Amino acid sequence: MIIPFFDCREQNRALRDSLCEALDAVVDSGQIILGEQGSCFEAEFARWIGARHAIGVANGTDALVISLRCLGVRPGDEVVTVANSAVATASAICQAGATPVFADILPDTLLMDPEDLKRVIGPKTKAIVPVHLYGNPAGMEPIMRTAREAGIAVVEDACQAHGAVIGGRRVGTFGNFGCFSFYPTKNLGALGDGGMIVTDNDELAERARRFRFYGFDRERVSHEVGQNSRLDELQAAFLRIKLARLDEWIARRRDIAEQYAYKLGAVIPLQCATPGGTHVYHLFVVRVQGRDAFRHAMRRRGVETAVHYAIPLCEHPAYSGFARALPVTREVVLQNVSLPLYPEMTDADVLAVVGAARAVLEGEGSHA
Ligand SMILES: *Cc1c(COP(=O)(O)O)cnc(C)c1O
Repeated sequence: MIIPFFDCREQNRALRDSLCEALDAVVDSGQIILGEQGSCFEAEFARWIGARHAIGVANGTDALVISLRCLGVRPGDEVVTVANSAVATASAICQAGATPVFADILPDTLLMDPEDLKRVIGPKTKAIVPVHLYGNPAGMEPIMRTAREAGIAVVEDACQAHGAVIGGRRVGTFGNFGCFSFYPTKNLGALGDGGMIVTDNDELAERARRFRFYGFDRERVSHEVGQNSRLDELQAAFLRIKLARLDEWIARRRDIAEQYAYKLGAVIPLQCATPGGTHVYHLFVVRVQGRDAFRHAMRRRGVETAVHYAIPLCEHPAYSGFARALPVTREVVLQNVSLPLYPEMTDADVLAVVGAARAVLEGEGSHA
């Protein structure tokens, strides 16, 4: 038996009847884009996150691009983020016309180092994009303080962290904007692409609504060059059904992570949850010497693993112009391995992953 790294079929199968009813409702409604499903989902998501406004968009990357553009980010501006993220983070900054500047990370939480952030902020810095990587909430208090002191904006990349909490609030509600993705592998995944922008600011919300729809005002006159980036009715209808289950799925993710931590914590370094925060475990990431050998040995024992991410963003040829010395990031990307973790895994699956990892690490050595 193979334990896949990720499988969305079980979740969708279990919801098949409601998903098919939602499909029928959209077919019968005749409204495919920017209708009732979209506005209901926006209201439900805003309430769940704890933000005044939620604006549905086509994907998480667009959520970041639109947020940055709404804050006035322009060519020549610098935007600070981390290099151990999805390519989408750097792509969004460049699509907004800005230059990505990479801050190093902390070796335990694997999130932005607030001290290095201070070092890279300069006169051209317009915004910070902290990434709540793997579902671990970034320490927002020092980041927000630095942003306030420097007078710059914050756009949270919460694409992996729906529901993660720090300081008693869900991530996405600290910055000027919070951005979410509903790519099928995410903790809240559509049956296609989708994304969401949240904000408490009425004016910024209005601006983001215009930007996702050609810059249109109510009379369909464009005052600014907007985009076409809308969350369609079908995905919104599916996501409403899934949002109602999300708390339960997060609890199951945390339960699996707890079992992994309890049974593997002594034999392998794990990503540390940010103190005082609630990690939602989009991914469960460990660090091993001799990563390739570990992954092959796991595979031989029937467990698929993945790597998020194998190279820093500034080592992708497209972003090599933005390289900077990042000693912690560089060390971590050689060692990180993601173990399977999704709410539909059975306890037997979890035990099988633990058993395989322990056998590989203890029995066969680390192949360092
Ligand atoms: C998935 C992801 C995105 C982009 O989301 P898409 O919906 O795929 O465009 C951005 N940032 C991070 C950290 C992500 O994991």
